[in-house]
Amino acid sequence: MLRRLLAATAAITAGATRPAAAAPLPLLDETDPVAVSLGYVANAKRVDRRKYPAYDGRQTCASCALIAFGTAVRRPCTLFPGKVVLATGWCRSWQPKGRKA
Ligand code: SF4
Repeated sequence: MLRRLLAATAAITAGATRPAAAAPLPLLDETDPVAVSLGYVANAKRVDRRKYPAYDGRQTCASCALIAFGTAVRRPCTLFPGKVVLATGWCRSWQPKGRKA
């Protein structure tokens, strides 16, 4: 009986001290008001070149200085706190890597 009580106490204590797994951040929706204002598209192939003539056809979130470091397809962007953008995306705030904003 005492052993079972000690084992249960140890299990509860371990569970209480284990950090909770972080929930994945939601994917930025193109209809998000900030996304709309920045012309964000989840796939840079859909950039409206008439509206954004500075877009050179090679820019994507993956090559932007404002996306989190890494190789994941979904990553945080400093312009959209609490969300992730697709590496294939683009917005008019694109910045080349290596340049301080
Ligand atoms: Fe993508 Fe860069 Fe725009 Fe963020 S700032 S959405 S990483 S192009």
